[in-house]
Amino acid sequence: MSELTDRLTSLTRDLILIPSTDRNPDERARAFQFFLNHLQSIPGVAIHRYESGGYESLVTGPEGTRHPEVLLCGHLDVVEHPSQEHYTSTIRDGRIYGPGAGDMKGALAILLELFLKAHREQPGISLGLAITSDEEIGGMHGLRYLVEEEGLRCQLAIIPDGGSLTEITIAEKGILHRRVFCRGDAAHAARPWLVENALHRLIERLAKLTAHFEDLKSPTGPDGAHWYPTCAITQAHTPNTSINRIPGRVEASLDIRFPPPHSINSMEALIDDLLGRGEGLEIETLIGAEPTELDPDPAFIQITEAVTDREVVRVRASGGSDARFLCAHGTPVLLSRPLVGNLHSDNEWIDIASMETYFTICDRYLRQRFQRQSTAPSS
Ligand SMILES: [Zn+2]
Repeated sequence: MSELTDRLTSLTRDLILIPSTDRNPDERARAFQFFLNHLQSIPGVAIHRYESGGYESLVTGPEGTRHPEVLLCGHLDVVEHPSQEHYTSTIRDGRIYGPGAGDMKGALAILLELFLKAHREQPGISLGLAITSDEEIGGMHGLRYLVEEEGLRCQLAIIPDGGSLTEITIAEKGILHRRVFCRGDAAHAARPWLVENALHRLIERLAKLTAHFEDLKSPTGPDGAHWYPTCAITQAHTPNTSINRIPGRVEASLDIRFPPPHSINSMEALIDDLLGRGEGLEIETLIGAEPTELDPDPAFIQITEAVTDREVVRVRASGGSDARFLCAHGTPVLLSRPLVGNLHSDNEWIDIASMETYFTICDRYLRQRFQRQSTAPSS
């Protein structure tokens, strides 16, 4: 094992030990302290800490600028597992197994090493690092907050939270989360003719909606992308506690994903129309995010191919990432990562050799980019 691989492995395993989940603010604070312990060893680096809605974020970079040229971004929150004993790691078959190994504590260890190395070698380099703690629940108080409320900007972001080592994400679908309410009159289920059953009405409308989305399906692309709008009904509730009562109120939640040329507005209008909004039915939008183009730098793709000796596949992703908050301001984002698997489930893993490979790709890219700049004639 090289010294770098050794360091990346132990940083990752140290981070996995901290159950930095949504329900555990103290452990998230402990994970931030872990990063501070490392970052405070670098002179000439400013550390800014933020808080929004109970979620801490950290942004560090060269002193004197709030807008680094390149920003490395990661999240330290991981999904909840039933027991504390889950938060340990093992090494088998060249992989680190443990909760968050792949999403994204292994990647965070790499970002930290890249940041420390760059600032030690080139003090004052315009490279920043942003760490947030609510990505798994939407990133509203993390990267969205930093970009929208604190004005964080950069020329390019690197977010190793999607794609794969030689799969670089070029686009992500938009997201629409909506809640649908249907009201009727409650009644005894033995006399259903007395009222219109709100649950029946909602089921009927939802069936029409899902049938329409079936029609929107198009063939899966060569990159495996299901590049068409989808709609999943994810929650359904009535206030009923008894089986013999017709509910007076019903609600359901929809998770809709859509590629361009669809937009939040066009998808909202489509759903309003299909469900018959207003006709005893109300619809509320909880989250809306437009589809994003990530516009990866061709130089990064070239370096990835040179280092891995494999051809890069440009992929389109059905899921969204924090990249959308920066893409919304026209910032290109590099979204690839080491080899990972079983994300969010038992036996989540990251491949150790690919961590060093991904580190090498980023390190070479950053050196080239900053060298290119320092030798470019000033205008
Ligand atoms: Zn993630």
